[in-house]
Amino acid sequence: MEATNGAQSKAGDWRNYQRILLPPVKDLHRLDVYEDEGGYEVLRDVLTDADTTPGDVTETVKEANLRGRGGAGFSAGMKWSFMPEPDDRPRYLACNADESEPGTFKDRQIMEYNPHLLYEGILIAGYAMSIDVCYIYVRGEYADWIQHMERELEKAYAAGYVGQNIMDTGFDMEIVIHKGAGAYICGEETSLLNSLEGKRGYPRYKPPFPAQKGAWDSPTTINNVETLAHVPHIMKNGAEWFGNIGAEGHPGPTIYGIAGHVNRPGAYEYPTGMLITDLIYEVAGGMQQDKGVKAVIPGGSSVPPLRGDSIEGVTMDAESLREAGSMMGTAGMLILNEDTDMVSWLRRVTHFYQHESCGQCTPCREGTGWLEQLVTRIDEGEGRLRDLDLLLDLCDQMEGRTICAFADAAAWPVRNTIQRFREDFEAKCKPSHVTAA
Ligand code: SF4
Repeated sequence: MEATNGAQSKAGDWRNYQRILLPPVKDLHRLDVYEDEGGYEVLRDVLTDADTTPGDVTETVKEANLRGRGGAGFSAGMKWSFMPEPDDRPRYLACNADESEPGTFKDRQIMEYNPHLLYEGILIAGYAMSIDVCYIYVRGEYADWIQHMERELEKAYAAGYVGQNIMDTGFDMEIVIHKGAGAYICGEETSLLNSLEGKRGYPRYKPPFPAQKGAWDSPTTINNVETLAHVPHIMKNGAEWFGNIGAEGHPGPTIYGIAGHVNRPGAYEYPTGMLITDLIYEVAGGMQQDKGVKAVIPGGSSVPPLRGDSIEGVTMDAESLREAGSMMGTAGMLILNEDTDMVSWLRRVTHFYQHESCGQCTPCREGTGWLEQLVTRIDEGEGRLRDLDLLLDLCDQMEGRTICAFADAAAWPVRNTIQRFREDFEAKCKPSHVTAA
């Protein structure tokens, strides 16, 4: 497939897009450089402008239609508005930097190249929701990023941007960096909170939702790193400006993580609504050895894979991907070439989910194990055609029947890979074992 001319792109003049999350400024991670670029000025304006109330900030973010960049795509401003009125309990913000979804590596770019943008976004969000403490929950494997973030956070404290009486405005807020211990499930909101409290990282039943009863039973909001990093730009330029970037209904810039069989894999910041074909052929340099595209997994391993012959005209936003039968997820894109054996690919995916299930719910604990065993059996040439029906039946038993969405995330790739790449599975079933379809 060739690159398209961009006629159906919703990303506007993306070739001349000026990056705002990862701008090309040398040493921007350093506080002095960030300040030279106007850093923390938006926070100052928000805190000192008597006309900007916390409610105004939430309304602006809501109007901008900033949708969470961690996978679910829920409106960030709406989420903030779920926080109850302040009472005698402390109030928390948890910044989800667990980033464990396979194929996803965007948040660490912000943490490495623009950490103060994240801190500024956290502080503005904190003002909007009257937060006392923000915990940045970072996956343990990001050891280098944690040290780097801590060094820069120390400088922000010393400069008076974080802590007590921030910039002499009377606003107090602490930021704490918390190191996770390497469990995928701790990226789930309530599991993250349990882990933060020092408990086993089990997802909680909902309701109550974190805004009512979150960390240490206090009101808590959980936002992804990239989501919070957008906030200073929204407050600086306005909701309308943000809403006019990229796809209507899912606006703003985003960081696409492109991996797999492309010539230039990497993290690329562009507006939402980019054509998948533009991202593959123009941004990521096309397919290695000019091979065809067999599959695109648009937003991390748990979203349904798309067939390569179905991506023409599909753009990277919630609406277009839903119509195409997938999801935006984290925008961590995996591009697989025509030689890929989708059974082998799925075997790796099912192994991952089997390993990462927390084990609380029977459909998930047992189901992920069965999925892996059956896919492995097919991959090793011992499968039967009826195993495919068994796999689909297992997916039925898992989806929507568990405490958290992990079981759904484990079942979706199985269901959709079988349905969309059935020929790969049939080719691996031994003829002697093939029974009636
Ligand atoms: Fe744990 Fe899976 Fe149940 Fe989620 S669905 S709580 S990961 S067992």
